[in-house]
Amino acid sequence: MTASAPITQDVVTIPRKDTHGDGARVNLVGMTRPEMLAALIELGTPEKQARMRLRQLWAWIYERGVRRFDEMTNLSKPYREELAAHFTIALPEIVTKSVSSDGTRKYLVRINGGHEVETVYIPEEGRGTLCISSQVGCTLTCSFCHTGTQRLVRNLTAAEIVGQIMLARDDLGEWPAPGRNPKNETRLLSNIVLMGMGEPLYNFDNVRDAMKIAMDPEGISLSRRRITLSTSGVVPEIAKTAEEIGCLLAVSFHATTDEVRDKLVPINRKWNIAALLDALRAYPKLSNSERITFEYVMLKDVNDSDEDAHRLVRLIEGIPAKINLIPFNEWPGAPYRRSSNNRIRAFADIIYKAGYASPIRTPRGEDIMAACGQLKSATERARKSRAQIAADVASG
Ligand code: SAH
Ligand code: SF4
Repeated sequence: MTASAPITQDVVTIPRKDTHGDGARVNLVGMTRPEMLAALIELGTPEKQARMRLRQLWAWIYERGVRRFDEMTNLSKPYREELAAHFTIALPEIVTKSVSSDGTRKYLVRINGGHEVETVYIPEEGRGTLCISSQVGCTLTCSFCHTGTQRLVRNLTAAEIVGQIMLARDDLGEWPAPGRNPKNETRLLSNIVLMGMGEPLYNFDNVRDAMKIAMDPEGISLSRRRITLSTSGVVPEIAKTAEEIGCLLAVSFHATTDEVRDKLVPINRKWNIAALLDALRAYPKLSNSERITFEYVMLKDVNDSDEDAHRLVRLIEGIPAKINLIPFNEWPGAPYRRSSNNRIRAFADIIYKAGYASPIRTPRGEDIMAACGQLKSATERARKSRAQIAADVASG
């Protein structure tokens, strides 16, 4: 697809809840509470008991990280056997793990059908952020983004999305030992950003279900204020995000005129800057959230002038915002260059003087190609040549 191609949702669909069941048995991971309750009742659990069983199962799976029914000691042996005969507790599989010199961990994760996505853990002082993927590849074709050059796309299931969090907790050894209250421990994995591969708002239902599981106070128990969903600007889904998930929002803004944004973030041709800003003005009120993060990738001589910075400030006036400047992360064949440090600082300064926080994001895990926008599964990597991408951009 070229940068000028129409925007379609050319996604391979699979049943939403076919989540690493093994054909005969159904996966419990990724089910919402009402879905799991219904599954237990269908199994023959008396309705009076089912709520209690649901709470017990939920705690084993999401609070303790247990994967085997026979370890669920507060359930009777026959009931455990019954569960094991009908259900699985299945996660996607870590194929490889790379660790950067700065401690960033990148996991290549295999999902059903042999597809691969990437998940990145970024340790920070006193906290840690997991960057999770929502799709294999991305149907959108932002011209500066490596994921956007990947052709194959499928939506991840809720199990595969929440499964990335569970896998990372496995790897970090973060499931609490019995008897310890998990909520009182300092978390290695304290924050989630939906900034990996894919456009989360094009996989809304699964992202919502997975985030609800992640936020559930009787399980993984992450606060909605520690989850940030990044969208390229799927305008009709933004209000729904506020209402049905309530997490923080980041938006890939990246340009201050429609002409430039059309080229960088082609979804802009469908919902332009004015339409996007309208949706963003309503967001904090709907979700009772804090500021919106405006992500802005710094591309040399494309969107990084003083004039752009002034225009940006004018555009977002009245929106509680912080502007996150992302030095462009290069990838093999990328058609852009990173703005110079001086240019980025000058741009940040204009925004800061206008009263907005304007942190410059330090690229993490660059040596293992784990930085923003560098993700792409190994099988798909480098399929497009530099010349091909340059041609796409020129024709956009
Ligand atoms: N699809 C969503 C979320 C994933 S991308 C979105 O576009 O918002 C996460 C962030 O990284 C986005 O702001 C994206 O525009 C940015 N990004 C993509 N490629 C990049 C690159 N090569 N260098 C720096 N940032 C990039
Ligand atoms: Fe998709 Fe986001 Fe990359 Fe654009 S920046 S191609 S929306 S992952």
